[in-house]
Amino acid sequence: MMIPIRCFSCGKPVAQFWDDYKAGLKKGKKPKDLLDSFGLERFCCRQTVMTNADLIEHVAKFKV
Ligand SMILES: [Zn+2]
Repeated sequence: MMIPIRCFSCGKPVAQFWDDYKAGLKKGKKPKDLLDSFGLERFCCRQTVMTNADLIEHVAKFKV
């Protein structure tokens, strides 16, 4: 869906890294290097950014 604003486990704000993370992956950078450059050291924050699937564009097509 959309990137969570904060890490689910520890509450650190992570949403501000999402656009840079996507852009970095498109350029062919490694996820590890990107997450290190953002200063995300805890594995809970790293998994929140790494495992997010951007599905809002697909879900928004359907009404409830
Ligand atoms: Zn965390």
